[in-house]
Amino acid sequence: MQIDLSLSRRRFLGTSVAATAVLGFSRVPYLAAQDATPVPLLGWSDDFSDNGLLNVATTVAPISSIVRNIGGNRINLRGIVPDGTNSHTFEPAPSDAVILSNADVLIANGLDLEDPTIEMANENLPEGAAVFTLGDKTITPEQYAYDFSFPEEDGHPNPHLWTNIPYAIAYAELVTEELSRLDPDNADYFAGNLDRYRTALETLDAAVQATVDSIPEENRRLLTYHDSWAYFAPNYGMTVIGAIQPSDFSEPSPRDVADLIDQIREENVPAIFGSEVFPSGVLEQIARETGAEYVDDLRDDEPPGDAGSPEHTFIGMMKRNLQIMAGALGGDPSLMDGVDPADTWVP
Ligand SMILES: [Zn+2]
Repeated sequence: MQIDLSLSRRRFLGTSVAATAVLGFSRVPYLAAQDATPVPLLGWSDDFSDNGLLNVATTVAPISSIVRNIGGNRINLRGIVPDGTNSHTFEPAPSDAVILSNADVLIANGLDLEDPTIEMANENLPEGAAVFTLGDKTITPEQYAYDFSFPEEDGHPNPHLWTNIPYAIAYAELVTEELSRLDPDNADYFAGNLDRYRTALETLDAAVQATVDSIPEENRRLLTYHDSWAYFAPNYGMTVIGAIQPSDFSEPSPRDVADLIDQIREENVPAIFGSEVFPSGVLEQIARETGAEYVDDLRDDEPPGDAGSPEHTFIGMMKRNLQIMAGALGGDPSLMDGVDPADTWVP
């Protein structure tokens, strides 16, 4: 499948221009955090500057959202991979080299997810700055998942660790360590933000488990287009019975599709899940031929809502995903109602 990167990039720049315009009128939207302290919704499209704050570049939105919740307003944060882009095939633009040449660090997932961006960072980061990857510091090679779209023979592990919330907590802890190393004067501030964010992630983790538990046991099976639930499923008691996207991110072959249709009929799968970022006519065809419900809006790295809305966060994304899964598989989506998706950092 071809992704029009130029279009995504225009959308992304449009978003930052809009955000800047809002800031220009001093009308930053505020909302109540969990401790009722107002938190400005800063997103992750700051311009880097010499304002004395760390210039922190990140890659995909889940990582950007985690870094914002630790760094708060004491970092300049710039996500390189635009929302709604296929992060697995994303190629950074020359303008990203300029951003990286002004960064104090690139915080990335690693595990082969963002190789072109990491390569560009290694060539362009200033003297003394480095890439800091999270995935390989969170689990050991023995824990890497190799599965449908990430077969072991290709040598690229499934990189989607953050869908398993304890791993997302580990990411937040690693980010806190790295920001504190780079800016020791703000270490206490980052640690306070980590405490609040960890509490929010633990609330999310418990709600995810309760929501999965509400799904009838025979329905706790995921058949998805994009293979992003390899670490989520075993932790919460679900099984990924298949992922449709080939390892080169092309469309599946007619033979693959025929096999899947057989599998869905045999296993009596109630729903198959597509993705916002990977629309697939193939899934619609499979749904038509098998009678399974086709749900097209699971997302592994694109938060819901507009940039600047309280749900446009990592927690908001996982909340939405679980509501969608529970709704399609016979569980209780309202068990996610108590999860506040908003940022938890304080100024
Ligand atoms: Zn993905």
